[in-house]
Amino acid sequence: MPVHVLDHPLAAHILTHLRDKTTKPATFRTLSYQLGLLLAIEATADIETDDKRIETPLEPMTARVLARVPLVVVPILRAGLGMVQPFTDMFPDVSVGYVGLERDHETAKARSYYCKLPPLAGRHVFIVDPMLATGGSAVQALDVVKQHGATDLRLVCIVAAPEGVAEVEKHHPGAIIHTAALDRELNARKYILPGLGDFGDRLYGT
Ligand code: URA
Repeated sequence: MPVHVLDHPLAAHILTHLRDKTTKPATFRTLSYQLGLLLAIEATADIETDDKRIETPLEPMTARVLARVPLVVVPILRAGLGMVQPFTDMFPDVSVGYVGLERDHETAKARSYYCKLPPLAGRHVFIVDPMLATGGSAVQALDVVKQHGATDLRLVCIVAAPEGVAEVEKHHPGAIIHTAALDRELNARKYILPGLGDFGDRLYGT
């Protein structure tokens, strides 16, 4: 399974400030949006285009438009919401679905408590979740979108742990992961090291 790590000086600069514990929620939201834009561009670099005949003010030409639209972006609630706007801003033809997951205290596994998805068959589906930690939520979200007909699966995150990447690879070898950073490891509480702390808390100031 390919893991694409975004390699761009601007992305590295933004990520450094996201990681910095002194960054306040308002700046954190702006930086998340900016990094989300760079990731949205990177994660769509290989999608197909169709030819389209148009006329410029000077002459006719054959230009290109996106082929398989609308794209579908699916945030995993709640932190994934912070990565939706870059997609809706960049791609006018985008549908948004939602998957809400919570930890089942009996089984310690992620359980879906909310699911609202547009048609997924034949579409490029981008699951967005900023932190790929254990991979439990990502695997569950990929299960859900597959059950709804998705076959072209991309997971877009800001920081990934090797443990999460391995878990996704084990259960969904066909999914492509895009991340701005592949960090060292998880700690005993399943936080990513060095990471950036709790993304949802820092995004929403909770
Ligand atoms: N979720 C977070 O917000 N941070 C982590 O480090 C791991 C999971």
